[in-house]
Amino acid sequence: ARTATTTAPTTTQDAPAVAPRILTGDRPTGPLHLGHYFGTLRNRVRLQADGHELLLVIADYQVITDRDVADRPAEHAENLVLDYLASGVDPERAVIFTHSAVPALNQLMLPFLSLVTVAELGRNPTVKDEIAHSRQSAVSGLMFTYPVHQAADILFCKPDLVPVGQDQLPHLETTRTIARRFNDRYGRGTTVFPEPRPLLSDAPLVLGTDGTKMSKSRGNAIPLGADEDRTAELVRAAVTDTDRHITYDPDARPGVAALLTLTALCQGRRPEQIAEEIGSAGAARLKQVTTETLNEHLRPLRARRVELAADREQLRRILRTGNERANAIADTTLAEVRSVMGGS
Ligand code: ATP
Ligand code: MG
Repeated sequence: ARTATTTAPTTTQDAPAVAPRILTGDRPTGPLHLGHYFGTLRNRVRLQADGHELLLVIADYQVITDRDVADRPAEHAENLVLDYLASGVDPERAVIFTHSAVPALNQLMLPFLSLVTVAELGRNPTVKDEIAHSRQSAVSGLMFTYPVHQAADILFCKPDLVPVGQDQLPHLETTRTIARRFNDRYGRGTTVFPEPRPLLSDAPLVLGTDGTKMSKSRGNAIPLGADEDRTAELVRAAVTDTDRHITYDPDARPGVAALLTLTALCQGRRPEQIAEEIGSAGAARLKQVTTETLNEHLRPLRARRVELAADREQLRRILRTGNERANAIADTTLAEVRSVMGGS
């Protein structure tokens, strides 16, 4: 992978004979945004083009971890498929499925829950952060245990790599722990679940228009499918500061840094360079440059997205096929789990 980095060795350094399997996914809570695009989507497309097998889970049950009810999950799921395709995912070779259509995933979660302690679940920093931003009336049991739920979504297909944003690293650690403990407890010397490795991109934490993690549910996102006027509007409303001279300082000036980073990612340059060029032309100039750069960079993707959006039946067909294939993989894994655990 060109610019990808991992917390463990990269794929090229120790690639096995068979192309590694990649599993990753998103919650159907809204349209994908630039955080997804630079944070993980580009990596997925690149890895698939390199010949890796790609599975994408649309984590619909995960939506009810931090809100009481899911808002139009099926519609959002179809739109995720649209964003994947527009970004360059090849639907013929990818398995794109929804969690709720694969019941074996929930059966896998049960033994997995027995392998982690309540204290471990309570320490997860991402769960704490998501509780802080939760739209739920009270913290539910699912919120508390969803890293385990996610471990089932990942381990059922025994992937080698999981391309994610930085916020997902604690969950990946839980997944790896569960795999290791399952093997120790039930494997009798064999590896039932290989430990998957996280794959971070060169933009593991893209900031939104308020200078915090760009998120679908925080009102700070620039959607991939937004049109050029909407993009201009969102960038114009971004939070900057009163210091007229533009500098790249993510700690002290997160809002300015967010815009510099988005521009730099599109142009394949460093944010410091962009800051130097803008200098005392100030935030208004920065916003103008950011808008123009984003709109230019995303023009082909957005044109493809408009074409693809005309055929909703195709999106549904891709999901139906993906659900069938994911069920077949999950049923095989569940049978193996039942067998090693001594069930019937
Ligand atoms: P929500 O607000 O509903 O949680 P989200 O914007 O956080 O939505 P998810 O569906 O939770 O998106 O995340 C999907 C994947 O995209 C994860 O791997 C996550 O790490 C990655 N991701 C999300 N936001 C960013 C970001 N701002 N920068 C880098 N990666 C991101
Ligand atoms: Mg999230």
